[in-house]
Amino acid sequence: MSVKTNTISCVDAVVVGAGFAGLYMLHTLRDKLKMNAVVFEAADDVGGTWYWNRYPGARCDISSYHYSFSFSEEIQQEWSWSEKYAAQPEILAYLGFVADKLDLRGNINFETRVISSSFDESSQRWTIKTDKGHTVVCKYYISGVGTLSTATIPSYEGKDTFKGEVYSTSTWPHQGVDFTGKTVGIIGTGASAIQAIPLIAEQAKHLTVFQRTANYATPLQNGPMNPAEATAIKADYSRFRHEARAALAGVPFPNMRESIFKDSPAEVQQHLEACWKEGGFALWLGSYGDVLFDEKANAIVAEFVRNKIRGRVKDPKTAELLCPDYLYGTKRQPCETNYFETYNRDNVSLVDIKSAPIRKITETGLELSNDQHHDFDCLIYSTGFDAFTGPLFKLNLTGRKGIRLQDYWCEGPRTHLGLMTHGFPNFFMITGPQSPSVLFNMPLGIEQHVEWIADVIHHMETNDLETIEPEKAKEDEWREVVESIANSTLMPKTNTWYTGSNIPGKPRSFMVYLGGGAAYKQVCDEVVDSEYSGFILDNAAATQEVAVL
Ligand code: NAP
Repeated sequence: MSVKTNTISCVDAVVVGAGFAGLYMLHTLRDKLKMNAVVFEAADDVGGTWYWNRYPGARCDISSYHYSFSFSEEIQQEWSWSEKYAAQPEILAYLGFVADKLDLRGNINFETRVISSSFDESSQRWTIKTDKGHTVVCKYYISGVGTLSTATIPSYEGKDTFKGEVYSTSTWPHQGVDFTGKTVGIIGTGASAIQAIPLIAEQAKHLTVFQRTANYATPLQNGPMNPAEATAIKADYSRFRHEARAALAGVPFPNMRESIFKDSPAEVQQHLEACWKEGGFALWLGSYGDVLFDEKANAIVAEFVRNKIRGRVKDPKTAELLCPDYLYGTKRQPCETNYFETYNRDNVSLVDIKSAPIRKITETGLELSNDQHHDFDCLIYSTGFDAFTGPLFKLNLTGRKGIRLQDYWCEGPRTHLGLMTHGFPNFFMITGPQSPSVLFNMPLGIEQHVEWIADVIHHMETNDLETIEPEKAKEDEWREVVESIANSTLMPKTNTWYTGSNIPGKPRSFMVYLGGGAAYKQVCDEVVDSEYSGFILDNAAATQEVAVL
C-alpha cells in the first residue's frame, strides 16, 4: 500500500530505501509474511545507489551474475547480463525489472524523505514522519538506506563562490553532462573517480585531476558476457550461489594460494600476472591468503602493482605520483579501465594536493597552499561518503528514553551482528555497520539479512511478542569480535572509510565484519536456533494506545 499525507496511518512495517535491500525486504514482508508494509524512497524511482551514482563509467566490480538476487529462480532465469561487469544503466534496469516483476512500486512512496523516526515506549510503536507530511505508525522499522548513500564534500573556504558548473559523482544529472570543449577539474581519486576520469578525459578540452592519495587500481578486464558461460550459470544456479555464499567475500576465487612465501619469486610473478589478467578483485581477494595479513607479503604485491603503473604511464614523474605507498588492499581496491593510460593524454594533468593542499575554491577554479591557481569551467567532487553511520543518522532516530542514535553511538556504532541496536527495539539495519556489508557480495548479503529479519518477525508474531532488541553487553562483545578480526589483518592500519577516518571528527572503529559471509551467517543462524539468545524479547502489552510523537 502507499500511504496518504496529512493523516496518521498505521502499518505493520516501514522500510526506508528502494534499492536492492528495500525491494527484497518489501517483497518478503508483503508477499511472504503477508504484512502491511510501506517503503519511503527519496528518489523518483527504484535503484538506490544505482539510481544516484550515474557518473560516466559507473559499473559493478564483482561480476554481473554474482551481483544479482538469488531468491527467485524465475528472475534469475529471465534476466540476462550483457557484460561481464554490468554498467550502471543495466543494473538500474535490472532493479526496475525486479520491481515490476514483483509488482512492488505500488507500496513505494517515491520522492519522499524520512525526517524523523521515534520509538514510543508506552505504545511500543515507531512513528515515522516524512518531508511530504506522512505520519506512519508501525511495529517494525527497517533501514535499507545502504552504506554509501551520504556523500561528503569538503568544506573548503569559498566553496560556494565558484561560478562554473559543479557536479558530484554521487548525484550525477540524469540527462548526463557534455564536457565537449570544456575545461574540467575533478577532486578525488577513489573508486568512483577512477571509473569516471578516463571517460571524462575523452570528452573534455582539458581535465585536471587533483589527487591526495594515489590508489592501487587494477584492471577490471570487462567485456561482453560470454553466452556459453551465461548458459552454464543459468543451468546450475544453485551451485553457483552455493559457492558464492561459501566464499569469504561472497565471490569465489578458486585460484587463491595460501602463502606468497610458498612460491618461488618467479612463480609469484607468474601467479600475480594471472590474477592481473583475470581482473576485478582477483589480485586483491584471490591471489595469496597472506597479502592482507603479512606486511612482507603485502609489500610484494604492492610493488607488483606499482611496476605495472610505471609501465603504463609514460612520464616518469607522473607515474611516481600515481604510485601508492600505503599497504596494498587496505583501502577498497578500485577497478579500472584505461585509467593509467589516461595520464598519457595531452589534455590531462595530475596535480598533487597532498604536498600542496587546496587552500580555497575561487570564482574560476581553485587555489593551492603553494599559491598555484587552477582555472576550469566545471568542477567535479568525487570525495567519498560518510559511510555506514551517515545514512542512518539522517533518519533522525530516537529510541527508548528519547535517546538519539547519534548520541548512543557517540563512540562509534554499537550493534549486535550489525543488525540491531539496544534501546531501539524492532529497528533493523540491512547491511548495518559491523556486519560483512561492503566486504561481501552485496545482493547475497542483503538477502541473508532480509531473511534473518523475516525469521525474527515471524517468531515475534507467532509468539505474541511486542519488542526485540539486543542486550547491551552483547554489543560490547560483538564490537570486540569485529575489531579483533579486523586487527588480525592489515586493514585497520590505513585511514579509510572502513574506520570512519575519512570524516573529520568521526569516532574511529572498524565497521565491517571481516570473518566472511559463511561464518557470519552461522553466528546469525545460531541466534535463531537458540530462540534469540543475546536479545531481549518482550511480550508486555502496550500501556497505552498509539501516541503520535
Ligand atoms: P572514496 O574511495 O572515499 O574516494 C574519495 C576520494 O576523495 C579520495 O581520493 C580522497 O582522498 C579524496 N578526498 C576526500 N576528501 C578530500 C579532501 N578534503 N581533499 C582532497 N581530497 C579528498 O570515494 P568513492 O570513490 O566515491 O568510493 C567510495 C566507495 O564506493 C568505494 O570504495 C566502493 O566501495 C564504492 N564504489 C563502488 C563502485 C563499484 O562497485 N563499482 C564504484 C565506485 C564506488 P584520500 O584517499 O586522501 O582520502
